[in-house]
Amino acid sequence: MTTAQSALTQLKARLAEVADLERVGMLLAWDQEVAMPRGGAEARAQQRASVERLCHERFTDDRVGELLDAAVAETPLDEDLLAVTRRDLDKARRIPGDLVAELVHAAATGHEAWTKAHAASDFTPFEPFLRRNVELRRQYIACFPEVPRPYDALLDDFEPQMRTEQAQDVLGRLRDGLIPLVEAAAGPPADAILQGSSFPVDAQRGFVETVLRQVGVDDERWRLDVAVHPFAATMGLGDVRLTTRYAPDDLDSLYSSLHEFGHGLYEAGIDPALARSPLQGGVSSAVHESQSRLWENMVGRSSGFWRWGFPHLQAAFPDRFAGRTWQDVHRAVNAVRPSLIRVTADEVTYGLHIALRFELELALFEGDLDPADLPEAWNERTRAYLGLEVPDDAHGVLQDVHWAEGLFGYFPTYALGTVISGQLWARINADVPDLEERLARGDFGPLREWLAERVHRHGRRLTPTELVARAAGGPLDPEPYLDYLRAKLAGSAPLVG
Ligand code: ZN
Repeated sequence: MTTAQSALTQLKARLAEVADLERVGMLLAWDQEVAMPRGGAEARAQQRASVERLCHERFTDDRVGELLDAAVAETPLDEDLLAVTRRDLDKARRIPGDLVAELVHAAATGHEAWTKAHAASDFTPFEPFLRRNVELRRQYIACFPEVPRPYDALLDDFEPQMRTEQAQDVLGRLRDGLIPLVEAAAGPPADAILQGSSFPVDAQRGFVETVLRQVGVDDERWRLDVAVHPFAATMGLGDVRLTTRYAPDDLDSLYSSLHEFGHGLYEAGIDPALARSPLQGGVSSAVHESQSRLWENMVGRSSGFWRWGFPHLQAAFPDRFAGRTWQDVHRAVNAVRPSLIRVTADEVTYGLHIALRFELELALFEGDLDPADLPEAWNERTRAYLGLEVPDDAHGVLQDVHWAEGLFGYFPTYALGTVISGQLWARINADVPDLEERLARGDFGPLREWLAERVHRHGRRLTPTELVARAAGGPLDPEPYLDYLRAKLAGSAPLVG
């Protein structure tokens, strides 16, 4: 048969195979982080590289291009599938195989160098690895000579079709809105209710499981495990894996679990008809992050959530919270205090950590910042935005692993996701006016349904711009998020803790 349907059917079969290989690679990665004994690292690196190579070869094979051309010419069906496949294929074919291999290798050696440099808190031995990553990314950028600005090529890997100019505009407005909020809210610590060494890990696990069950996790389709760097991974329909970490002296396990739950719920809610195709997945890193941040912050730091959750917290840690109220905890989890480390930053200062990284990336790729001068530039901006002195490289330029792995263009998506979460939250509250009361009753159903309908089910069928415009009612705009923070900061006793 040489009908249009057969080209499309054959293409779909090939894409399903590629999708399966991708998930197999993901499973190998999940196992490495969660279960593998450390001795398996070298063998696992080879296994992952083999699967990745197979995946890349199967996808960029000439046959896929032929089938795609035939399918496009012969059928008006599955327009979205064909457009996304075309985009992915064009991008994948631009990068020479040698450069792909070098990028993978440099990411692995960069990671190793970073681990040592971070432990020693010394940027100097790490600098050549960083320089190499920047150089390779410049070669990568050169594969896309048509982009107006070099950084566009980096950003596009995470935010399809977004231009640097737009990211700069949105993040600049976010930064300028956050700085006065931080200055007005920050003060000395007033309440150490969530600090100190009495959060037994078993009790934390019980509390986290209670919360996850209530928001929508079940044993049939979900798993929760422990990992050093928490993440979420979806292996396929009906198999969502979350990870968290437990420290004995804080309750960050709750917030990392809610964060990863947001990522997992997104993937779990994608239309099953898109399974095993390039359309099964989040549409962009920022939209993905909007889902995790929404559950972590808008839900997890809301008064509604704590009116429901506080009795469970008290039951898990009876000594710790005897004589306390939900308001005490609500105040503590919303405390604003500039700090040096991004991953433990509060909701308000977090965006400034991202603005700093984004601006330094722009200076590296479009300005005249040399990698050797990065620590000084980092410390200068930390002083300007957070009012803090960086005591050593581990608390400064070396704190994140992203650049060590050659991940440039990724950081802005954290803050862009936060911006989108603010826009979505405003819409949800308009559509579900009694949301706060529902959360206080532990009723998370209407929120889940709203997100599934407006965001999750589409997978990659819409472009990120289309999805945000439809779900949030307009283009990216930091104002709803800033309004949400302003209302919270104005609404209660000073949020200092
Ligand atoms: Zn995330």
